[in-house]
Amino acid sequence: AMTPQPDPRAGAAVKAADRAHVFHSWSAQELIDPLAVAGAQGSYFWDYDGKRYLDFTSGLVYTNIGYQHPKVVAAIQEQAAHLTTFAPAFAIEARSEAARLIAERTPGDLDKIFFTNGGADAVEHAVRMARLHTGRPKVLSAYRSYHGGTQQAINLTGDPRRWASDGAAAGVVHFWAPYLYRSRFYAETEEQECARALEHLETTIALEGPATVAAIILETIPGTAGIMVPPPGYLAGVREICDRYGIVFILDEVMAGFGRTGEWFAADLFGVVPDLMTFAKGVNSGYVPLGGVAISGAIAKTFAKRAYPGGLTYSGHPLACAAAVATINVMAQEGVVENAGHLGETVLGPALRELAERHPSVGEVRGVGMFWALDLVKNRETREPLVPYNATGEANAAMAAFGAAAKKHGIWPFINMNRTHVVPPCNVSEAELKEGLAALDSALSVADEYTR
Ligand code: PLP
Repeated sequence: AMTPQPDPRAGAAVKAADRAHVFHSWSAQELIDPLAVAGAQGSYFWDYDGKRYLDFTSGLVYTNIGYQHPKVVAAIQEQAAHLTTFAPAFAIEARSEAARLIAERTPGDLDKIFFTNGGADAVEHAVRMARLHTGRPKVLSAYRSYHGGTQQAINLTGDPRRWASDGAAAGVVHFWAPYLYRSRFYAETEEQECARALEHLETTIALEGPATVAAIILETIPGTAGIMVPPPGYLAGVREICDRYGIVFILDEVMAGFGRTGEWFAADLFGVVPDLMTFAKGVNSGYVPLGGVAISGAIAKTFAKRAYPGGLTYSGHPLACAAAVATINVMAQEGVVENAGHLGETVLGPALRELAERHPSVGEVRGVGMFWALDLVKNRETREPLVPYNATGEANAAMAAFGAAAKKHGIWPFINMNRTHVVPPCNVSEAELKEGLAALDSALSVADEYTR
């Protein structure tokens, strides 16, 4: 399977049906040109012409154990043969075992698991739980964040995709979380940025009225918006603020969880325990859709004698849960979490910093584990982004050229605005990383041509 057989005619047929009938997410339908993918294995996928790509995106940052892991594929097949589906109100072995394995790994007393079909609905339910638990209406979330594409989740999201539905954003208030590289007129050090961000958050709460705020939701490390690792003390400070005002602290670990940062959960990097924690993606590497909310003892108690008003037909689907059980066991047996942490610290981080020294287009390198971002700039002194915020078409030419070069050299790059993220599978090998870094080096030379 690692040697793709070219079959351009089959590829053309797949592409033609896609263009005729598939309506793609986040896209202007006539301005896109989706690649027809013939297969995938481990850290690679290939097209119908036989061109192979090293997947530096892990899909949408979710194939934490790569594609087609044989143990997870086998577990899905076994579950399908045994009990393909069963409604959520029943106790099913795959479901209870998945919940047990997840609860065993979540921090603190987040020991009850509400299953969803993905990340956005996990966020929807976390927010509903927080509102019912506190009896308060508002939710605070960060600019420069991503929480999903459904109604509540997109309103919480701090990126331009929310703008189209802002009119329905009742009860959502955005605040300015730490991002030292782009807060430099207010803070010069991580300590100052931490203090700036905490003071700003507390002021926001005072101005909104503490008794009206149900929850603060944060990605432990914002992912899609730029992998801004928060300064030491920030999340602990938010935890303190939440405790002071009786606000529910929600950490969204949909992208950062399940090994991405070299810990089972990014919260473990900071020693912080939220009241609710959302997860999805890496829980089963996306082999079958699954997400969920891990719930603290105190919030679970709210719904001990009072029904929780919410659920989904496919909550905790047996195929998805069997995939989660197998994935978590593979991650534990094969040291996947440790691999992400170790190779991040010894290979990927140092290599990206070295690239930054040689390429004038790299303004900042930041990240941890298998979770890194390069902030690309026109000019390192002014930090002017390589392309303007939310650029499209000609305005986005520099990032388009960078992306085309990366693909030409054999990596599939994650690109968002003026950034490229390096987010390979957590079980990537050192040799694969080095192969991808060489391709990235060549692609950055193309980005350099747009600096001044
Ligand atoms: N929350 C975070 C932090 C995410 O990164 C994402 C997806 O990228 C979501 C929520 C939404 O998850 P899904 O696309 O599975 O609905």
